[in-house]
Amino acid sequence: MIDLKKLEVWFVTGSQHLYGEETLQQVTEHSQQIAKALNAASQVPVTVIFKPTVKTPEEIYAVCQKANVATNCIGIVAWMHTFSPAKMWIGGLKILKKPLLHLHTQFNRDIPWGEIDMDFMNTNQSAHGDREFGFMMTRMRLNRKVVVGHWQDEQALTQIGVWARAAAGWNDWQGAKFVRFGDNMRYVAVTDGDKVEAEMKFGYSVNTHGIGDLVKVINEVSDADLNTLIQEYNDRYKLAEGLRKGGAGHQSLIEAARIEIGLRTFLEQGNFKGFSDTFEDLHGMAQLPGIASQRLMGQGYGFAGEGDWKTAALVRAMKVMGAGLPGGNGFMEDYTYHFDPNNPMVLGSHMLEVDESLAEGEISCEVHPLGIGGKADPVRLVFNSAAGPALNASIVDMGNRFRLIVNEVEAVKVEHALPKLPVARVLWRPLPDMKTGCAAWIYAGGAHHTGYSQNLTSEHMEDFASFAGIEYVLIGRDTNLYQLKNELKWSDAYYQLNR
Ligand code: MN
Repeated sequence: MIDLKKLEVWFVTGSQHLYGEETLQQVTEHSQQIAKALNAASQVPVTVIFKPTVKTPEEIYAVCQKANVATNCIGIVAWMHTFSPAKMWIGGLKILKKPLLHLHTQFNRDIPWGEIDMDFMNTNQSAHGDREFGFMMTRMRLNRKVVVGHWQDEQALTQIGVWARAAAGWNDWQGAKFVRFGDNMRYVAVTDGDKVEAEMKFGYSVNTHGIGDLVKVINEVSDADLNTLIQEYNDRYKLAEGLRKGGAGHQSLIEAARIEIGLRTFLEQGNFKGFSDTFEDLHGMAQLPGIASQRLMGQGYGFAGEGDWKTAALVRAMKVMGAGLPGGNGFMEDYTYHFDPNNPMVLGSHMLEVDESLAEGEISCEVHPLGIGGKADPVRLVFNSAAGPALNASIVDMGNRFRLIVNEVEAVKVEHALPKLPVARVLWRPLPDMKTGCAAWIYAGGAHHTGYSQNLTSEHMEDFASFAGIEYVLIGRDTNLYQLKNELKWSDAYYQLNR
């Protein structure tokens, strides 16, 4: 569903005519070589396209203008091999709408001590050429990512890859459509927000369809499609006794499959990248979509429960950013705490909808009562999730701005059997520690719903926030509550002034 190699990043080198044809020819050859290496680097998941060296305000303006309208171009990597007087860049940078990475590199890794002469110095000027470019972007108050290092440096390549993944997620949001079945869960604050502002800021739209529109599609699902999907459930999961053919719950499995096919059809027909629903509005549906939401998330759709469109959209963007990496990204909720002072942890889950892409080991397919919503018992997938570094991310609407909050966590292997817990589960320890991490999250106003990632780092999320131009709050290894509370206060002042 998501192929990052189809997306392009343009490699643009800045220079000027001052140096003469011979030097410019060498600049071009060097740039081609670097672009080729970036394109081939395993860390960089997108296609890197070499663009001819820009030497005048007109050439710079033209390449920025073309990047803006090129559908597959998700950003520009800029590098000043020589000195490129930066007033030439003002016009282009003013109109550039795509993310920019400033690669502060140099063609030669080492100084050729025995050979270095003035010709070498004239060709290898990035050390100061990039400073002129950097000043201009700072003077214009432009968000960008600066990566420093030789172009074969593993760490630099990793950072370029991180930025490219974030840019792919950002690109995916532009023009994206998310559908909301029913409204917000009644009286809930954090899942609500300004959808008009979100569309202006983030580029995606959220529109509502009455549940009846979905029910109509669900009711038209054919028996042949139903049988195929039931077979897939049989092949892929450990079906609970009663769900098998002839069992008392088999009809529940049929209804769940019908909902899944109907939902997928609705999403495909409307070209939606994700959805939200609420257990308070299910008129005409047999059960709340459980396994349907879990599997659709596993296939790349964004989702969040209770009308939470912000988290649904965030989950989708995180899936795009993490495409092709081991591990998954999915909808999550901090559910229950383990307050053992020697081993404090959070149990993350949801009442049904935990993303299949987070599963480790056997997945069982079960049916249990839900306790709320007043519908038939919903079918769900139950599984554990892997240990390792992970993060939770949440976007909240602060009234005058959006804030992205990220908490780095250490996921923990689920050691207990949990025979009575009828939902999939994840265990983690928040960084820097349980008490500080949870307090920081609550001070920052982070939601109970999050996008949980096993394969993205806080650097992906920071780059993503920078493209959106929104506030970014990191809770991680170095978080100190005194500093965090001040950061939140100072940011409030900043966003009041910077409107
Ligand atoms: Mn919830």
